[in-house]
This record gives sequence, structure tokens and C-alpha cells, in this order.
Amino acid sequence: MGKKRPERTERRARERAVRDLVRDREKLAKLSPGGAAERPITVPSSAVIEVRIHGMTCPQCEGRYKIVDHRSAGQGMRPVDVRCDRCGTPRTLWFKIVEDLPN
Ligand SMILES: [Zn+2]
Repeated sequence: MGKKRPERTERRARERAVRDLVRDREKLAKLSPGGAAERPITVPSSAVIEVRIHGMTCPQCEGRYKIVDHRSAGQGMRPVDVRCDRCGTPRTLWFKIVEDLPN
């Protein structure tokens, strides 16, 4: 009499659901402002970037980001590598410096 293992099946289903959720959240994060090079968050100066990052939360766990590296990609593009302080998910946030020129 082969005993089924419902607890195992259940765990697998739960793990799969978590994976799907993680993937969906990543997809969503890439579509959000700053999630990709095509949709950077515009800022008036580089000084604002860290302030903006501190106001953002990880889409996986709502943890805070820790800045790993500031990069420069030319034409005012400033990708910033960050890592979630809580779940450790690495991410690149895209900023673009658009200076407000007076008149
Ligand atoms: Zn996180």
C-alpha cells in the first residue's frame, strides 16, 4: 500500500508558488521606474540619488536597499547597484541626471 506523502507534495507546491511570486515581483520591478535602463528615474543631481534609494523598498520583502556601487553609463545615466538589506536580492536601479537649466 503505497502511502502518499501529502506533506511533500504540499511543500513542493508551496515552493513553486513562492518561486512564481518571486519571478512575478522581479518582472514587475523591471517595469517600475528605475527598474531598467529604458526607464530611469530622473533626478536633478547625483546628490538626490541616495535619498531616492533610501525611500525605496525591495519588491521581494519591502526591506531597505544598501548601496553597493555607483556607476556611470554616460549621458547622465547612473546605474546604481544595490542589495536588499533584508533578503539580499541584488538589483540595479537606473537614474538619469537631468539638470534643470535656468531658462
Ligand atoms: Zn528584500
